[in-house]
Amino acid sequence: MSTEAHQDLPEPHEEQLCTSCAAPNEPTADFCVKCGAPLSSFSMIAPFERLFAEGFIYRQAADRPRSLITVLGVWFIFGMMASGGLIIMIMSSQSTAGGLVATIVGVVFGVAIFAVSFVMIWKTTRNYLTRNEIDHKTDA
Ligand SMILES: [Zn+2]
Repeated sequence: MSTEAHQDLPEPHEEQLCTSCAAPNEPTADFCVKCGAPLSSFSMIAPFERLFAEGFIYRQAADRPRSLITVLGVWFIFGMMASGGLIIMIMSSQSTAGGLVATIVGVVFGVAIFAVSFVMIWKTTRNYLTRNEIDHKTDA
């Protein structure tokens, strides 16, 4: 402990106090170092940010598939989704338990899932094949 600590100097860096336990944290901290409570808005938007990032990965995969593995991955993921959509569609169209509205909603939902999955597979495959053609032209 030094006597110079009594001088009324401004803090070298700002601190943010935890709203839960009042512990001082780095201004850039997302969570309290002491109790782990969320400090910044980052922790609240994190799930949305992750969803957005995943959406971006899928879009990148569809727009610029770099390898056959990416294409196969898209086929696998969206192939399963398309199958799920088909199953929902077929089951909804054959079941009358929920009434006409439930049947229509189920069929439309199933068709929508199938259509989105089909478009993703089609786009990815087409872009992959087109990209390879461009590569071959560059090579020659
Ligand atoms: Zn805290």
